[in-house]
Amino acid sequence: CGIIGYSGPLDAGKILLDGLSGLEYRGYDSAGIGLCMEDTSICIAKKVGKVKNLREYCEANVHGTAHSGIGHTRWATHGGVTDANAHPHRAGRVTLIHNGIIENYHELTEQFHLEGQLVSQTDSEVAARVLDALYDGDPLKAIQKLQELIVGSYGFCILFDDQPGSVYALRKVSPLVASYTHAGAIIASDLTALIPYSNQYFVVPEDKIVRLTPYKVHVYNMDETFSKVYPEIMTVNWNM
Ligand code: GLU
Repeated sequence: CGIIGYSGPLDAGKILLDGLSGLEYRGYDSAGIGLCMEDTSICIAKKVGKVKNLREYCEANVHGTAHSGIGHTRWATHGGVTDANAHPHRAGRVTLIHNGIIENYHELTEQFHLEGQLVSQTDSEVAARVLDALYDGDPLKAIQKLQELIVGSYGFCILFDDQPGSVYALRKVSPLVASYTHAGAIIASDLTALIPYSNQYFVVPEDKIVRLTPYKVHVYNMDETFSKVYPEIMTVNWNM
């Protein structure tokens, strides 16, 4: 229901939790974050309930600093409201958050023999496991293959264990806007999460891959060479 991704010089945990608080008005049942810690390990915290619960849980349980990560508020469509079904979902080297619905998740579960591996009841975890199965060290290629296989709507933000500092994203139907700001690179499902940092943004085009690094936001075509795309930068008009 709400998505945010960050890579930059600041405390990623704080930026993600503040961003999720700003998305609260959309309504949700669970919230979670996935952080790439300074030692490059991935730390996941996810909880049923309000962002306040998650924040308290993180204060007590997340030690150390991160400069990149992803955050999610969930509106359950597939699978009950439980901590295990909250996002991010982790599969092998992939950590993923998803807004939307994967319509063909049953077929993908069969095709990739995922039955015994799933630890949640969500359609989203299936996407995480398929992506991990497709991943051979090249994120752009794996994401392109995933996009060819999935039927449905999605906004995804993705971390790969061996790509510390990079956040990958793509969308279909579900909204995503992104910005490079004085605080670093930010992507979110809603402008309200970007506005505290910048009044400049771009709408993530469908069928492209976005990669946030601490220094830049890159957008790639899903063609053979993954050529670069430069989307039109928009300015938020405060007088509107
Ligand atoms: N379909 C996913 C789930 O139920 C994502 C829901 C959402 O967009 O928050 O977990």
